[in-house]
Amino acid sequence: MPELLGLEADAWPCPRLAAHPPGRSTAATTTTHIDWTKEEPVRLRIVDYTCSCRALVYELLSCGGHFMIRRTHQTTSPEVFYAGPWPRAVAERVWTMILTGEAR
Ligand SMILES: [Zn+2]
Repeated sequence: MPELLGLEADAWPCPRLAAHPPGRSTAATTTTHIDWTKEEPVRLRIVDYTCSCRALVYELLSCGGHFMIRRTHQTTSPEVFYAGPWPRAVAERVWTMILTGEAR
């Protein structure tokens, strides 16, 4: 049903300001699997984020000198997971892999 799919895609207006990681179908064939945990860091600051028009939103977080990534599935009760902590260079590499679809 193409009409229904079109409606779903327009459900959240896209501000076109942030990155859009490729979807599962267009992602790289070999993807690195990140270990996600529900353990929330105590203090965090958002450094970068992907576009909120997608059901799955990723955020790069700075917390106490280390860096983590938060993954939120925007369902009616959002599912939130965290990965890391890593030193900045490692976190930025993982972040780039998420943006290019090489890791999820
Ligand atoms: Zn968007």
